[in-house]
Amino acid sequence: MSLVLGSVADDYTGASDLANSFAKAGLRTIQTIGVPDAGLALPEVDAVVVALKIRSVAAADAVAQARAADAWLRGQGAGHVLYKVCSTFDSTDAGNIGPITDALRADCGEPVVIVTPAFPETRRTLYRGHLFVGAVPLHESPLKDHPLNPMRDSNLVRVLARQSRAPVGLVDHETVAAGPDAVADRLAELASQGVGAAIADSIDLADLDTLGAVAIRQRLSVGASGLGLGIARALVAAGRVAGGAGALTLSPAGGPALCLAGSCSQATLGQIAEAETRMPVLRLDAEAAVSGQAADAAIAWAAARIGSGPVLIASSASPEAVAAVQARYGREEAGRAIEATMARIAEALVAGGVRRLVVAGGETSGAVVERLGIPAFRIGPEIAPGVPVLQALGIPGGPMTLALKSGNFGAPTFFADALALVQ
Ligand code: ADP
Repeated sequence: MSLVLGSVADDYTGASDLANSFAKAGLRTIQTIGVPDAGLALPEVDAVVVALKIRSVAAADAVAQARAADAWLRGQGAGHVLYKVCSTFDSTDAGNIGPITDALRADCGEPVVIVTPAFPETRRTLYRGHLFVGAVPLHESPLKDHPLNPMRDSNLVRVLARQSRAPVGLVDHETVAAGPDAVADRLAELASQGVGAAIADSIDLADLDTLGAVAIRQRLSVGASGLGLGIARALVAAGRVAGGAGALTLSPAGGPALCLAGSCSQATLGQIAEAETRMPVLRLDAEAAVSGQAADAAIAWAAARIGSGPVLIASSASPEAVAAVQARYGREEAGRAIEATMARIAEALVAGGVRRLVVAGGETSGAVVERLGIPAFRIGPEIAPGVPVLQALGIPGGPMTLALKSGNFGAPTFFADALALVQ
Protein backbone atom coordinates (compact mmCIF):
# COMPACT_ATOMS: atom_id res chain seq x y z
CA MET A 1 0.00 0.00 0.00
CA SER A 2 1.24 3.51 -0.85
CA LEU A 3 -0.40 5.06 2.18
CA VAL A 4 0.28 8.79 2.62
CA LEU A 5 -2.33 9.64 5.21
CA GLY A 6 -3.81 7.81 8.16
CA SER A 7 -6.46 8.73 10.67
CA VAL A 8 -7.49 7.43 14.06
CA ALA A 9 -11.19 8.37 14.35
CA ASP A 10 -12.95 8.40 17.72
CA ASP A 11 -16.34 7.18 16.42
CA TYR A 12 -17.81 5.33 13.41
CA THR A 13 -19.98 7.88 11.62
CA GLY A 14 -17.35 10.57 12.28
CA ALA A 15 -14.90 8.25 10.55
CA SER A 16 -17.16 7.97 7.47
CA ASP A 17 -17.60 11.73 7.43
CA LEU A 18 -13.81 12.21 7.45
CA ALA A 19 -13.24 9.49 4.86
CA ASN A 20 -15.80 11.29 2.69
CA SER A 21 -13.77 14.52 2.99
CA PHE A 22 -10.60 12.68 1.95
CA ALA A 23 -12.34 11.12 -1.06
CA LYS A 24 -13.86 14.46 -2.11
CA ALA A 25 -10.39 16.00 -2.10
CA GLY A 26 -9.17 13.25 -4.45
CA LEU A 27 -7.69 10.63 -2.11
CA ARG A 28 -8.52 6.97 -2.65
CA THR A 29 -9.73 6.07 0.82
CA ILE A 30 -10.86 3.13 2.92
CA GLN A 31 -12.29 3.03 6.42
CA THR A 32 -11.57 0.10 8.72
CA ILE A 33 -13.57 -0.89 11.78
CA GLY A 34 -10.82 -1.11 14.37
CA VAL A 35 -7.32 -2.29 13.47
CA PRO A 36 -7.75 -4.90 10.75
CA ASP A 37 -6.54 -8.47 11.14
CA ALA A 38 -3.28 -9.21 9.37
CA GLY A 39 -5.18 -11.44 6.94
CA LEU A 40 -7.39 -8.67 5.51
CA ALA A 41 -6.29 -7.80 1.96
CA LEU A 42 -6.47 -4.04 1.53
CA PRO A 43 -6.63 -2.38 -1.88
CA GLU A 44 -4.12 0.20 -3.09
CA VAL A 45 -5.24 3.49 -1.48
CA ASP A 46 -3.90 6.88 -0.42
CA ALA A 47 -5.65 7.13 2.96
CA VAL A 48 -6.98 4.81 5.66
CA VAL A 49 -9.33 5.92 8.45
CA VAL A 50 -9.38 3.51 11.40
CA ALA A 51 -12.78 3.88 13.06
CA LEU A 52 -12.78 3.32 16.82
CA LYS A 53 -15.43 3.91 19.49
CA ILE A 54 -13.32 5.76 22.02
CA ARG A 55 -15.07 9.08 22.50
CA SER A 56 -16.78 8.21 25.78
CA VAL A 57 -14.87 5.23 27.17
CA ALA A 58 -12.37 5.40 30.07
CA ALA A 59 -9.29 7.44 29.10
CA ALA A 60 -6.76 4.62 29.64
CA ASP A 61 -8.72 2.31 27.33
CA ALA A 62 -9.13 5.07 24.72
CA VAL A 63 -5.39 5.82 24.79
CA ALA A 64 -4.46 2.15 24.38
CA GLN A 65 -6.79 1.71 21.40
CA ALA A 66 -5.67 4.96 19.74
CA ARG A 67 -1.98 4.06 20.15
CA ALA A 68 -2.54 0.62 18.60
CA ALA A 69 -4.36 2.13 15.61
CA ASP A 70 -1.68 4.81 15.20
CA ALA A 71 1.11 2.20 15.32
CA TRP A 72 -0.69 0.09 12.70
CA LEU A 73 -1.14 3.10 10.37
CA ARG A 74 2.54 4.06 10.74
CA GLY A 75 3.45 0.45 9.99
CA GLN A 76 1.48 0.72 6.73
CA GLY A 77 3.58 3.75 5.77
CA ALA A 78 1.37 6.68 6.88
CA GLY A 79 3.66 9.70 7.21
CA HIS A 80 0.96 11.80 8.82
CA VAL A 81 -1.80 10.71 11.18
CA LEU A 82 -4.85 12.86 11.96
CA TYR A 83 -6.52 12.03 15.26
CA LYS A 84 -10.15 12.75 14.32
CA VAL A 85 -12.35 14.22 17.05
CA CYS A 86 -15.87 15.64 17.01
CA SER A 87 -16.31 19.12 15.50
CA THR A 88 -17.88 20.16 18.80
CA PHE A 89 -14.81 18.86 20.69
CA ASP A 90 -16.92 16.38 22.70
CA SER A 91 -14.85 15.51 25.78
CA THR A 92 -14.72 15.99 29.54
CA ASP A 93 -12.01 17.14 31.94
CA ALA A 94 -11.06 13.45 32.24
CA GLY A 95 -10.50 13.19 28.47
CA ASN A 96 -10.33 11.77 26.00
CA ILE A 97 -8.87 14.33 23.60
CA GLY A 98 -6.06 15.50 25.91
CA PRO A 99 -4.77 12.08 27.02
CA ILE A 100 -4.84 10.68 23.46
CA THR A 101 -3.10 13.76 22.03
CA ASP A 102 -0.40 13.54 24.73
CA ALA A 103 0.17 9.83 24.03
CA LEU A 104 0.22 10.01 20.21
CA ARG A 105 2.48 13.07 20.33
CA ALA A 106 4.92 11.26 22.60
CA ASP A 107 4.88 8.21 20.31
CA CYS A 108 5.76 10.20 17.18
CA GLY A 109 8.14 12.64 18.92
CA GLU A 110 6.48 15.81 17.57
CA PRO A 111 7.12 18.73 19.99
CA VAL A 112 3.86 20.58 19.27
CA VAL A 113 0.81 19.62 17.19
CA ILE A 114 -2.01 21.60 15.54
CA VAL A 115 -5.45 21.10 17.13
CA THR A 116 -8.57 22.50 15.45
CA PRO A 117 -12.09 21.01 15.35
CA ALA A 118 -13.27 23.77 12.95
CA PHE A 119 -15.56 22.52 10.16
CA PRO A 120 -16.91 25.64 8.41
CA GLU A 121 -19.13 23.55 6.07
CA THR A 122 -21.21 22.63 9.15
CA ARG A 123 -20.70 26.09 10.74
CA ARG A 124 -18.17 25.06 13.37
CA THR A 125 -15.59 27.86 13.45
CA LEU A 126 -12.80 28.81 15.83
CA TYR A 127 -11.78 32.37 16.66
CA ARG A 128 -9.43 33.51 19.44
CA GLY A 129 -9.55 29.90 20.60
CA HIS A 130 -13.32 29.98 21.10
CA LEU A 131 -15.41 27.39 19.26
CA PHE A 132 -18.63 28.62 17.66
CA VAL A 133 -21.55 26.37 16.67
CA GLY A 134 -23.37 28.41 14.06
CA ALA A 135 -23.85 31.89 15.50
CA VAL A 136 -23.34 31.02 19.17
CA PRO A 137 -20.32 29.99 21.26
CA LEU A 138 -20.11 26.31 22.16
CA HIS A 139 -21.23 26.87 25.77
CA GLU A 140 -24.48 28.50 24.58
CA SER A 141 -25.21 25.81 21.95
CA PRO A 142 -27.29 22.65 22.58
CA LEU A 143 -23.97 20.91 23.36
CA LYS A 144 -24.08 22.52 26.81
CA ASP A 145 -26.71 19.89 27.70
CA HIS A 146 -25.11 16.88 25.96
CA PRO A 147 -25.94 13.81 28.08
CA LEU A 148 -22.38 12.44 28.05
CA ASN A 149 -20.10 15.45 27.51
CA PRO A 150 -21.80 18.73 28.45
CA MET A 151 -19.66 21.46 26.85
CA ARG A 152 -19.78 24.45 29.22
CA ASP A 153 -16.63 26.30 28.11
CA SER A 154 -16.10 27.53 24.55
CA ASN A 155 -12.41 28.41 25.11
CA LEU A 156 -10.63 25.33 23.77
CA VAL A 157 -7.23 26.41 25.08
CA ARG A 158 -8.70 26.11 28.56
CA VAL A 159 -10.74 22.98 27.77
CA LEU A 160 -7.74 21.09 26.37
CA ALA A 161 -5.37 22.35 29.10
CA ARG A 162 -7.64 20.79 31.75
CA GLN A 163 -7.23 17.36 30.17
CA SER A 164 -3.59 17.51 28.99
CA ARG A 165 -0.25 17.00 30.67
CA ALA A 166 1.51 19.49 28.37
CA PRO A 167 0.68 23.24 28.28
CA VAL A 168 -1.69 24.36 25.50
CA GLY A 169 -1.19 27.46 23.33
CA LEU A 170 -3.01 29.40 20.60
CA VAL A 171 -2.27 30.11 16.94
CA ASP A 172 -4.50 33.13 16.41
CA HIS A 173 -6.39 34.04 13.27
CA GLU A 174 -4.00 36.83 12.25
CA THR A 175 -1.20 34.26 12.17
CA VAL A 176 -3.24 31.70 10.22
CA ALA A 177 -4.28 34.39 7.71
CA ALA A 178 -0.60 35.25 7.20
CA GLY A 179 0.00 31.77 5.73
CA PRO A 180 1.84 28.49 6.38
CA ASP A 181 5.25 29.96 7.19
CA ALA A 182 3.77 32.29 9.82
CA VAL A 183 1.96 29.32 11.39
CA ALA A 184 5.14 27.22 11.35
CA ASP A 185 7.07 30.08 13.03
CA ARG A 186 4.39 30.37 15.71
CA LEU A 187 4.50 26.60 16.33
CA ALA A 188 8.29 26.79 16.76
CA GLU A 189 7.83 29.64 19.23
CA LEU A 190 5.21 27.66 21.19
CA ALA A 191 7.46 24.58 21.16
CA SER A 192 10.30 26.62 22.63
CA GLN A 193 7.95 27.54 25.49
CA GLY A 194 7.20 23.86 26.15
CA VAL A 195 3.68 23.97 24.64
CA GLY A 196 2.58 20.57 23.31
CA ALA A 197 -0.76 21.35 21.65
CA ALA A 198 -1.64 24.48 19.67
CA ILE A 199 -5.32 25.34 19.26
CA ALA A 200 -5.47 26.96 15.80
CA ASP A 201 -8.13 29.48 14.78
CA SER A 202 -9.90 28.76 11.50
CA ILE A 203 -13.06 30.23 10.08
CA ASP A 204 -13.03 29.20 6.42
CA LEU A 205 -11.54 26.75 3.95
CA ALA A 206 -8.59 29.04 3.21
CA ASP A 207 -7.59 28.81 6.89
CA LEU A 208 -7.90 25.02 6.79
CA ASP A 209 -5.79 24.89 3.62
CA THR A 210 -3.09 26.86 5.45
CA LEU A 211 -3.24 24.59 8.49
CA GLY A 212 -3.29 21.50 6.25
CA ALA A 213 -0.15 22.70 4.46
CA VAL A 214 1.65 23.01 7.82
CA ALA A 215 0.22 19.79 9.24
CA ILE A 216 1.64 17.65 6.41
CA ARG A 217 5.13 18.82 7.37
CA GLN A 218 4.48 17.17 10.73
CA ARG A 219 3.67 13.63 11.83
CA LEU A 220 0.48 14.25 13.82
CA SER A 221 -2.49 16.62 13.98
CA VAL A 222 -5.80 16.72 15.83
CA GLY A 223 -9.06 17.90 14.29
CA ALA A 224 -12.37 17.17 12.62
CA SER A 225 -13.34 16.74 8.97
CA GLY A 226 -12.47 20.39 8.21
CA LEU A 227 -8.79 19.88 9.03
CA GLY A 228 -9.01 16.52 7.22
CA LEU A 229 -10.10 18.34 4.08
CA GLY A 230 -7.28 20.89 4.47
CA ILE A 231 -4.71 18.12 4.89
CA ALA A 232 -6.03 16.11 1.93
CA ARG A 233 -6.07 19.20 -0.30
CA ALA A 234 -2.51 20.05 0.79
CA LEU A 235 -1.31 16.54 -0.10
CA VAL A 236 -2.91 16.79 -3.55
CA ALA A 237 -1.46 20.30 -4.09
CA ALA A 238 1.99 19.03 -3.06
CA GLY A 239 1.76 16.19 -5.60
CA ARG A 240 2.13 13.60 -2.84
CA VAL A 241 -0.95 11.59 -3.83
CA ALA A 242 -0.53 9.02 -6.55
CA GLY A 243 -4.23 8.52 -7.28
CA GLY A 244 -5.97 11.90 -7.27
CA ALA A 245 -9.07 10.06 -8.44
CA GLY A 246 -11.05 10.28 -5.20
CA ALA A 247 -14.07 8.03 -4.80
CA LEU A 248 -13.20 4.40 -5.48
CA THR A 249 -15.10 2.47 -8.11
CA LEU A 250 -17.61 0.18 -6.45
CA SER A 251 -19.05 -3.06 -7.81
CA PRO A 252 -22.87 -3.05 -7.89
CA ALA A 253 -24.31 -5.36 -5.25
CA GLY A 254 -27.81 -5.45 -6.74
CA GLY A 255 -30.84 -7.17 -5.30
CA PRO A 256 -33.20 -6.08 -2.53
CA ALA A 257 -32.56 -2.99 -0.41
CA LEU A 258 -33.25 -2.54 3.31
CA CYS A 259 -33.43 0.78 5.18
CA LEU A 260 -33.19 0.91 8.99
CA ALA A 261 -33.69 3.98 11.18
CA GLY A 262 -32.75 4.11 14.87
CA SER A 263 -32.01 7.82 15.06
CA CYS A 264 -34.68 9.92 16.79
CA SER A 265 -33.28 13.23 15.49
CA GLN A 266 -35.62 15.76 13.90
CA ALA A 267 -33.91 15.27 10.55
CA THR A 268 -34.38 11.50 10.57
CA LEU A 269 -38.01 11.73 11.73
CA GLY A 270 -38.72 13.98 8.73
CA GLN A 271 -36.86 11.62 6.39
CA ILE A 272 -38.93 8.65 7.60
CA ALA A 273 -42.17 10.58 6.98
CA GLU A 274 -40.95 11.41 3.48
CA ALA A 275 -40.00 7.77 2.84
CA GLU A 276 -43.55 6.72 3.76
CA THR A 277 -44.73 8.31 0.50
CA ARG A 278 -42.35 6.06 -1.47
CA MET A 279 -41.96 2.64 0.19
CA PRO A 280 -43.48 0.36 2.84
CA VAL A 281 -42.45 1.58 6.31
CA LEU A 282 -42.75 -0.45 9.51
CA ARG A 283 -42.63 1.56 12.73
CA LEU A 284 -41.54 -0.69 15.58
CA ASP A 285 -43.35 -0.60 18.88
CA ALA A 286 -40.69 0.71 21.26
CA GLU A 287 -41.70 -1.53 24.18
CA ALA A 288 -41.49 -4.61 21.95
CA ALA A 289 -38.19 -3.42 20.49
CA VAL A 290 -36.67 -2.97 23.97
CA SER A 291 -37.87 -6.36 25.18
CA GLY A 292 -36.55 -8.08 22.05
CA GLN A 293 -40.01 -9.16 20.89
CA ALA A 294 -40.20 -6.95 17.79
CA ALA A 295 -37.48 -8.54 15.69
CA ASP A 296 -39.12 -11.74 14.41
CA ALA A 297 -42.29 -10.04 13.22
CA ALA A 298 -40.27 -7.24 11.58
CA ILE A 299 -38.06 -9.76 9.77
CA ALA A 300 -41.14 -11.61 8.46
CA TRP A 301 -42.79 -8.30 7.44
CA ALA A 302 -39.70 -7.25 5.46
CA ALA A 303 -39.11 -10.68 3.92
CA ALA A 304 -42.66 -10.66 2.52
CA ARG A 305 -42.19 -7.27 0.80
CA ILE A 306 -38.52 -6.74 -0.01
CA GLY A 307 -38.64 -8.72 -3.27
CA SER A 308 -40.90 -6.00 -4.73
CA GLY A 309 -38.80 -2.99 -3.69
CA PRO A 310 -37.02 -1.26 -0.79
CA VAL A 311 -38.56 -1.25 2.70
CA LEU A 312 -37.84 0.82 5.81
CA ILE A 313 -37.98 -0.39 9.42
CA ALA A 314 -37.83 2.39 12.03
CA SER A 315 -37.63 2.37 15.81
CA SER A 316 -37.38 6.16 15.74
CA ALA A 317 -39.93 8.07 17.80
CA SER A 318 -40.78 11.58 18.97
CA PRO A 319 -38.85 13.11 21.90
CA GLU A 320 -41.87 12.54 24.20
CA ALA A 321 -42.15 8.87 23.27
CA VAL A 322 -38.40 8.39 23.66
CA ALA A 323 -38.50 10.07 27.09
CA ALA A 324 -41.29 7.72 28.19
CA VAL A 325 -39.34 4.62 27.13
CA GLN A 326 -36.17 5.94 28.78
CA ALA A 327 -38.03 6.68 32.01
CA ARG A 328 -39.25 3.12 32.11
CA TYR A 329 -36.08 1.22 31.09
CA GLY A 330 -33.22 3.70 31.54
CA ARG A 331 -31.56 5.71 28.77
CA GLU A 332 -28.59 3.40 28.16
CA GLU A 333 -30.53 0.17 28.54
CA ALA A 334 -33.33 1.23 26.17
CA GLY A 335 -30.83 2.47 23.59
CA ARG A 336 -28.67 -0.64 23.65
CA ALA A 337 -31.67 -2.98 23.55
CA ILE A 338 -33.20 -1.22 20.54
CA GLU A 339 -29.83 -1.17 18.78
CA ALA A 340 -29.58 -4.93 19.36
CA THR A 341 -33.05 -5.40 17.83
CA MET A 342 -32.06 -3.40 14.74
CA ALA A 343 -28.80 -5.36 14.44
CA ARG A 344 -30.69 -8.66 14.66
CA ILE A 345 -33.12 -7.56 11.94
CA ALA A 346 -30.21 -6.56 9.70
CA GLU A 347 -28.37 -9.82 10.35
CA ALA A 348 -31.39 -11.99 9.48
CA LEU A 349 -32.28 -10.11 6.31
CA VAL A 350 -28.66 -10.05 5.13
CA ALA A 351 -28.54 -13.81 5.73
CA GLY A 352 -31.67 -13.94 3.55
CA GLY A 353 -29.89 -12.19 0.66
CA VAL A 354 -30.02 -8.41 1.26
CA ARG A 355 -26.82 -6.75 -0.03
CA ARG A 356 -27.96 -3.09 -0.08
CA LEU A 357 -28.37 -1.43 3.31
CA VAL A 358 -29.09 2.13 4.45
CA VAL A 359 -28.89 2.86 8.20
CA ALA A 360 -29.81 6.13 9.96
CA GLY A 361 -28.23 6.77 13.38
CA GLY A 362 -24.62 6.72 14.55
CA GLU A 363 -24.94 4.20 17.36
CA THR A 364 -27.46 2.20 15.36
CA SER A 365 -25.02 2.02 12.43
CA GLY A 366 -22.24 0.91 14.78
CA ALA A 367 -24.39 -1.88 16.18
CA VAL A 368 -25.39 -3.09 12.70
CA VAL A 369 -21.84 -3.01 11.30
CA GLU A 370 -20.51 -4.89 14.32
CA ARG A 371 -23.22 -7.55 14.10
CA LEU A 372 -22.54 -8.04 10.39
CA GLY A 373 -18.81 -8.38 11.15
CA ILE A 374 -17.72 -5.99 8.41
CA PRO A 375 -14.00 -5.23 8.91
CA ALA A 376 -13.59 -2.38 6.39
CA PHE A 377 -15.22 -0.21 3.70
CA ARG A 378 -14.17 1.33 0.42
CA ILE A 379 -15.35 4.95 0.25
CA GLY A 380 -17.50 5.73 -2.79
CA PRO A 381 -19.33 8.86 -3.98
CA GLU A 382 -21.09 11.31 -1.67
CA ILE A 383 -24.84 10.98 -0.99
CA ALA A 384 -25.14 14.05 1.26
CA PRO A 385 -22.52 16.19 3.04
CA GLY A 386 -20.63 13.81 5.36
CA VAL A 387 -22.35 10.66 4.04
CA PRO A 388 -20.53 8.57 1.41
CA VAL A 389 -21.58 5.33 -0.27
CA LEU A 390 -19.64 2.47 1.35
CA GLN A 391 -18.73 -0.94 0.02
CA ALA A 392 -17.94 -3.67 2.51
CA LEU A 393 -14.47 -5.23 2.28
CA GLY A 394 -13.42 -8.58 3.67
CA ILE A 395 -16.83 -10.27 3.93
CA PRO A 396 -17.87 -13.43 2.12
CA GLY A 397 -20.66 -13.60 -0.45
CA GLY A 398 -20.04 -10.90 -3.06
CA PRO A 399 -20.38 -7.12 -2.92
CA MET A 400 -22.43 -5.38 -0.23
CA THR A 401 -23.15 -1.64 -0.54
CA LEU A 402 -24.19 0.56 2.39
CA ALA A 403 -24.90 4.07 3.59
CA LEU A 404 -24.48 4.86 7.30
CA LYS A 405 -25.50 8.30 8.42
CA SER A 406 -25.45 10.11 11.68
CA GLY A 407 -28.93 11.24 12.68
CA ASN A 408 -28.83 14.90 11.72
CA PHE A 409 -27.32 14.46 8.28
CA GLY A 410 -29.05 14.42 4.89
CA ALA A 411 -31.88 16.15 3.03
CA PRO A 412 -35.58 15.31 3.71
CA THR A 413 -35.36 12.89 0.74
CA PHE A 414 -32.34 11.10 2.28
CA PHE A 415 -33.63 7.52 1.95
CA ALA A 416 -34.45 7.98 -1.74
CA ASP A 417 -31.16 9.84 -2.31
CA ALA A 418 -29.25 7.01 -0.66
CA LEU A 419 -31.06 4.22 -2.51
CA ALA A 420 -30.28 5.90 -5.83
CA LEU A 421 -26.54 5.50 -5.12
CA VAL A 422 -26.46 2.39 -2.89
CA GLN A 423 -26.59 -0.01 -5.83
P1 ADP B 1 -28.15 9.70 16.23
O1 ADP B 1 -27.13 9.58 15.15
O2 ADP B 1 -29.35 10.52 15.84
O3 ADP B 1 -27.56 10.10 17.57
P2 ADP B 1 -28.10 7.00 17.21
O4 ADP B 1 -28.43 5.74 16.50
O5 ADP B 1 -26.64 7.29 17.45
O6 ADP B 1 -28.75 8.21 16.40
O7 ADP B 1 -28.81 7.07 18.63
C1 ADP B 1 -30.16 6.87 18.78
C2 ADP B 1 -30.35 6.06 20.06
O8 ADP B 1 -31.74 6.07 20.38
C3 ADP B 1 -29.95 4.60 19.88
O9 ADP B 1 -29.33 4.14 21.06
C4 ADP B 1 -31.30 3.91 19.67
O10 ADP B 1 -31.30 2.55 20.00
C5 ADP B 1 -32.20 4.73 20.56
N1 ADP B 1 -33.62 4.64 20.18
C6 ADP B 1 -34.11 4.39 18.95
N2 ADP B 1 -35.46 4.39 18.97
C7 ADP B 1 -35.83 4.65 20.25
C8 ADP B 1 -37.08 4.80 20.91
N3 ADP B 1 -38.25 4.66 20.25
N4 ADP B 1 -37.08 5.04 22.24
C9 ADP B 1 -35.90 5.19 22.91
N5 ADP B 1 -34.68 5.09 22.34
C10 ADP B 1 -34.64 4.82 21.03
